[in-house]
Amino acid sequence: MTAGYDCIVVGGGPAGATAATDLAYAGHHVLLLDRAGRIKPCGGAIPPRLIRDFEIPDHLIVARVTSARMIAPSDNRIDMAVDRVGDGSFVGMVDRESFDEWLRARAASAGAARCTGRFDRIERDGDGRAVVVHHDPDGIEHKTRARCVIGADGARSRVARAAFAEAEQTPCVFAYHEIIRSPANDDARFDRDRCDVFYQAALSPDFYGWIFPHGDTASVGVGSAWKGFGLRDAVGRLRAQAGLGQCETIRGEGAPIPLRPLRKWDNGRDVLVTGDAAGVVAPASGEGIYYAMVAGREAAGAVAEFLRSGDPKALRLARRRFMRENGRVFQILGIMQHFWYRNDRRRERFVTMCEDSDVQDLLWPAYMNKRLIYAKPLAYLRIFAKDMRHLLQTAV
Ligand SMILES: Cc1cc2nc3c(=O)[nH]c(=O)nc-3n(C[C@H](O)[C@H](O)[C@H](O)COP(=O)(O)OP(=O)(O)OC[C@H]3O[C@@H](n4cnc5c(N)ncnc54)[C@H](O)[C@@H]3O)c2cc1C
Repeated sequence: MTAGYDCIVVGGGPAGATAATDLAYAGHHVLLLDRAGRIKPCGGAIPPRLIRDFEIPDHLIVARVTSARMIAPSDNRIDMAVDRVGDGSFVGMVDRESFDEWLRARAASAGAARCTGRFDRIERDGDGRAVVVHHDPDGIEHKTRARCVIGADGARSRVARAAFAEAEQTPCVFAYHEIIRSPANDDARFDRDRCDVFYQAALSPDFYGWIFPHGDTASVGVGSAWKGFGLRDAVGRLRAQAGLGQCETIRGEGAPIPLRPLRKWDNGRDVLVTGDAAGVVAPASGEGIYYAMVAGREAAGAVAEFLRSGDPKALRLARRRFMRENGRVFQILGIMQHFWYRNDRRRERFVTMCEDSDVQDLLWPAYMNKRLIYAKPLAYLRIFAKDMRHLLQTAV
């Protein structure tokens, strides 16, 4: 049995690395346990708010996206400029291999101990204290005591499934993408500054497909919650359709994306889950990196309070604070996904709606800054009226 820690963070993705960094900076004795050896499958799109709030250095941004193209079932294309106010803002693209490793290294430089190994289970010692059991890369079992455990081990989290029955039933979209070599700079088939999002049933019957540029590589992927929908074949069709069929495939990989926050994030005693493990990915967009880091930060705050007071109720603060800030956006996006992604007729309307500059002026700042800005009440009334018209026209 290894000597104890204030907190063991299981999982060194954006959520876990952020929680470990914040706890270590606050002076707590933290262990960051990550199994390593696998690059997280991810499109890598992050908003400016994340870059600012979590002090992400420039060298991790592999592409700066300045426009987005939405492609309807009819192949109607709507191009949108990302920068709505002329302040040069962009959507950042990161490669998860270097991004996640940099976050883990930052946690270590803040004072967290790092450990490579696979979390197995939580046992209890004679005093009822948590004992984390993990296996190192040689398969040797280790046991470590902790006053508190943060489960940040992603979708289908082992920590969450052990602590909460509900975690088994989290609804997920399954996403698969291929990292390909980008065509040359001057190749007309490919714009290195643009994200393409495909709303077409042949590519995804209930979510969307994407092409996200990462400089010399690109992520081409699709997601769907439909069991039996051939994700790989759909990516093949998407690549052929976009003229990217012949590009070198560097790797192909898939993972679930949870689409509903768990109702409880803590066990009322000493275990708290966060990030994908707590189900905090935005519906409709599948955006999870920003929310994982915010949730990781809230988890660190709640654990610090728990370590100070010894009161397990403090762990509830993580979910309460996160949902107060983001719960409404999740609700709105959930309704959007439910309604607009239902069939091609609705997807066609959805893309048409996005052509509207009032809609773009609302959507982009909300995505970039994670805030709804009610600066133009008349424009929002207009959006509401147009939205209702589209709804009535499609509700047959
Ligand atoms: C194909 C795809 C594309 C996506 N594209 C985007 C996008 O463009 N933008 C966006 O914002 N979000 C995107 N997402 C969602 C985003 O990737 C996740 O929401 C985000 O990574 C969640 O971070 P996390 O730290 O909670 O979990 P993860 O990033 O999954 O990290 C979990 C960590 O836990 C470790 N771990 C797991 N099990 C164990 C264990 N038993 N023991 C020890 N360690 C363990 C893993 O090694 C990993 O490091 C995408 C997801 C997918 C699947």
